[in-house]
Amino acid sequence: MTDFADLVDGYQRFRTSDWRRQHDRWEKLKVGQEPRVMVIACSDSRVEPAQIFDTLPGEMFVVRNVANLVPPFETGGGYHGVSAAVEFAVTQLKVSEIVVLGHGQCGGCKAALAGTFANAERGKGGFISDWVHLLDGAREKVTQEHGDLSSDAAREAMEQAAVQTSIDNLRTFPFVQEAEASGQLEIRGAVFAIDDGILRVLDESGSFKPAEPRAA
Ligand SMILES: [Zn+2]
Repeated sequence: MTDFADLVDGYQRFRTSDWRRQHDRWEKLKVGQEPRVMVIACSDSRVEPAQIFDTLPGEMFVVRNVANLVPPFETGGGYHGVSAAVEFAVTQLKVSEIVVLGHGQCGGCKAALAGTFANAERGKGGFISDWVHLLDGAREKVTQEHGDLSSDAAREAMEQAAVQTSIDNLRTFPFVQEAEASGQLEIRGAVFAIDDGILRVLDESGSFKPAEPRAA
């Protein structure tokens, strides 16, 4: 088990190795960040975008939450953490791509599919239940297509539908619509399978296919 003391040990290794190796990079980064890509991923400890995409500090603007969800554009009150991050990425950093990264064995998707915390009180799953209500439409679609909601196929379909839901919701933000229409922004989806480590990328036909190496 890794605890905070282990994390500080890790920091010491980072400070004496990577920090020094990447000195020039950090010198530039202290002035500001200019990531070209925003990634929206799950909080799941197994799905670390910087590791999966092998990136360096400053390359991705990342927001993580339960089930890699983006809420729809809303003008009402509330603490819209994800919306604030999307707004900052698109209108201030002017990222050219947003990647919604789903993953296999997603507990949030599983809870949404099974209705695990339905009607639970705050502190007993109520916050999770409210949050994954964003997947009600996805759940309905998966329910229609898969009779047995406890099957692996249903779970995988839900994980893919969650990515599509976030993409659809991103497109409800006026500034995202504008950036996409003007060609400044592209939105992409992918799912990382934990069991075999394969990244499947959403294509234009709406299906997820294993990522291919870039053509030379
Ligand atoms: Zn997850």
